Amino acid sequence: MNIITTIKELRKAIKVEKEKGLTVGFVPTMGFLHEGHMSLVSHAKREQDLVVMSIFVNPLQFGPNEDFDSYPRDFDRDEALAREAGVDILFYPSVQEIYPNEPTITMTVQKRVNVLCGKKREGHFDGVVTVVSKLFHMVEPTVAYFGLKDAQQVAVIQGLVDDLSFPVEIRPVPTVREDDGLAKSSRNVRLTVEERKEAPAIYQTLLKMKNKVKKKQITTSEDLAQLMIEEFNQGKRGTLEYIEIYSYPQLESIEELKGEIIVAAAVRYEHARLIDNLIFTVEENE
Ligand code: AMP
Repeated sequence: MNIITTIKELRKAIKVEKEKGLTVGFVPTMGFLHEGHMSLVSHAKREQDLVVMSIFVNPLQFGPNEDFDSYPRDFDRDEALAREAGVDILFYPSVQEIYPNEPTITMTVQKRVNVLCGKKREGHFDGVVTVVSKLFHMVEPTVAYFGLKDAQQVAVIQGLVDDLSFPVEIRPVPTVREDDGLAKSSRNVRLTVEERKEAPAIYQTLLKMKNKVKKKQITTSEDLAQLMIEEFNQGKRGTLEYIEIYSYPQLESIEELKGEIIVAAAVRYEHARLIDNLIFTVEENE
């Protein structure tokens, strides 16, 4: 595995491989790797000749009161995991390498951001599309892999690629979970023992709601939202930040539950904010 810290070296290494006609799979991450990230790598390895992973905790996508400084980091561990997973090039730039100057241009996402995580995390997706655009220019991947745990991010990035005509395909990858259903996340290590016990309630609530919707026991967003809030708030430790229902990937409000929908939640614990979602189709005559 080739570990590269500068854009110049990265471009050089990728150019050599592309000249051989190889396809490039790209897995952007913020590190503190877990099986969710590894699933993106295994999809990329199956489908592409060369796999490039980036590890970069992007300051631009963190708000002033968010956890940029305390975001978990462990490069030695990540390096070993990436090597084991068969990553070919590990790009590990400094903040200075990615943002050497004050910006002369800023990006603002117009759609799909006033809901879910975008509502509370002002500017978050602007930071995401900025870094992803830069990384796409540096790596020039054939296909980029993103996890559906961050389904809003997948929708926003698909919008970025469509709007700005990036010559890259976005491949969404299903959420990887712990045995008890909790979505794997770098932030799970920050849960207390008690919180960790209760955190699977997020997924369990989503799953229960999905089953009710599928069985047509609930048919409107309003009823679903109300029931989910009641269900979740039964003696749980975390604070529910949102639990919302939209069409997917448009992320528009819907009255009647039909078509492709996302049911998503964010929960705040003492030292971690966790998100999860389920995306599924509600057939009209199911
Ligand atoms: P992060 O390091 O949290 O920015 O995540 C990097 C990539 O891994 C993103 O595309 C995430 O959606 C994806 N990812 C994170 N957790 C999971 C998971 N549990 N299952 C699948 N993908 C994930």
